[in-house]
Amino acid sequence: MLMTTTDPRTTSRPLPTPRVMYNAVVRQDASYDGLFYTGVRTTGIFCRPSCRARKPKRENVEFFSAVADALFAGYRACLRCKPLHTVGAHPAWVKDLLSRVESREGARLKDFELAQDGIDPAGARRYFQEHFGMTFQAYSRSRRLSGALSQLRLGFDLDNTAADAGFESLSGFRDAFSKVFGEPAGKADRATAIHLGWMETPIGPMIAGARNGALILLEFTNRRMMETQIETLRKRFKAAFLPEDDKVIRQTRRELDEYFAGKRRDFTIPLDYPGTPFETRVWTELLKIPYGQTRSYEELAEITSSRGAVRAVGSANGRNRIAIVIPCHRVVNKSGALGGYGGGLWRKQTLLSLEQGGELGR
Ligand SMILES: [Zn+2]
Repeated sequence: MLMTTTDPRTTSRPLPTPRVMYNAVVRQDASYDGLFYTGVRTTGIFCRPSCRARKPKRENVEFFSAVADALFAGYRACLRCKPLHTVGAHPAWVKDLLSRVESREGARLKDFELAQDGIDPAGARRYFQEHFGMTFQAYSRSRRLSGALSQLRLGFDLDNTAADAGFESLSGFRDAFSKVFGEPAGKADRATAIHLGWMETPIGPMIAGARNGALILLEFTNRRMMETQIETLRKRFKAAFLPEDDKVIRQTRRELDEYFAGKRRDFTIPLDYPGTPFETRVWTELLKIPYGQTRSYEELAEITSSRGAVRAVGSANGRNRIAIVIPCHRVVNKSGALGGYGGGLWRKQTLLSLEQGGELGR
């Protein structure tokens, strides 16, 4: 089952009810502009509430409280209502910062570069957190990834015309993909390529990667580590990415659906998770933690015969590339506190309560 509303825990701003939002969209009510955005599943495009484009059916609409949430969900900005253009009264320095991110397609602007332009980095962090529900870095990252994510979301066929997906040209499409994943593998290289597929889950979209009959990647699209993980995979496997489902991706999608429906406790997908000897030891131990149970970082350190290496266990845990299936969410602090989670603590909490027989958030 899909969520129709972005989880409020991911953003700082609560949304009006879906009914109120859909009515605003039908009325093209500009007073809601900036308050929320609508993604249309059938087209992969997101809009402001006031957009004059044809009104989508209610069941095809997904609501977002922030632009970056729509981008991380693989939606592209509508060319008509231009939701990436700021509305409202942002101060001049914010408008300027936003247009710099746009013109350089999500460039990583370092703190010192901001400072050079007379922008206080701490102030920028606060402002973005407050008004966009995320850091300036997360916003920039969403812009870097959005082209590639929308491509994956739509399951774009490399041999087809790009226009269907809202890309102006096939080369535009290839560029968007290449920027994040490198030059795509040709169809002839299917056997050695890393296949990539899009997963919808009740706690946000994920990307799955499979190669040679095994799952090698399962990650939330808005995770900070995502770009690093992709780089690691490319180096480890010396293979190019191909945006196309394979058998393993389809099986992963099926088993994830069953897991979130509370109907599956164990995954049967073949896994491939190369790492340092220590990392592989930790990840293998994670796989032994049963559904519904947790282990502390200390226990894991002891099992992997690395007493005192609690922090090393924690970071190996954080470098896990196959979220949920290799259950790094089942490792918590000795005190019972949640500890960290790369995908965000609210997700860890949701997964643990699902496994303890609870209902999903909503
Ligand atoms: Zn629009």
